[in-house]
Amino acid sequence: MFWLNNSNERQLAFGVGSWMQRVFFSVKALSRWIEQRMGVADVNKTLWNNLVPRKVNAFVWRALNRRLPVRIELDKKGIDLDTLLCPGCDNVVESLDHCLVLCENVINVWDMIFAWWGVGLTDVFTVKELLCHKGKSSMGKESRLLWQTTIWVAAYFVWKNRNNQVFKWKSKNSSRLFNEIQQKTLSGYT
Ligand SMILES: [Zn+2]
Repeated sequence: MFWLNNSNERQLAFGVGSWMQRVFFSVKALSRWIEQRMGVADVNKTLWNNLVPRKVNAFVWRALNRRLPVRIELDKKGIDLDTLLCPGCDNVVESLDHCLVLCENVINVWDMIFAWWGVGLTDVFTVKELLCHKGKSSMGKESRLLWQTTIWVAAYFVWKNRNNQVFKWKSKNSSRLFNEIQQKTLSGYT
């Protein structure tokens, strides 16, 4: 078992049988320890894009490490929900891949973004394939970075749209969402 309490330095204490050891960790070391314990790969830690706001980088990190609270993940944690179905289509269990990539409304958004960039048909099925998509072979380094930026910002707005649906009962259809993403992208991703 372990528990946390707030003092100057956050403390982590854990007991095994009658043996008790108390260790002091910085927050950073603590989160590293939790990640190792939970078997979360830290390969994505180096993935950072300076063109997008910190909140978008944080979102991408959470998505790649499957830390976004979609319904199937909440259910696995034992949280009681009325339904596991996707709030967007109300038709399929809400997994992360479904929510950010495969839901009907969302696929339309990706189709429009891929067409806008001339990247061809949408060829992604998972969050990882989407967020790590390299664009097309003719892209130079800078175009590739802008492509990644567009994809990341778009995924962030897809997630935001999903949350508006869940918490505010309002969401945008794919055309309006695409227009919003295009405007945000053209105005510098803020
Ligand atoms: Zn759906």
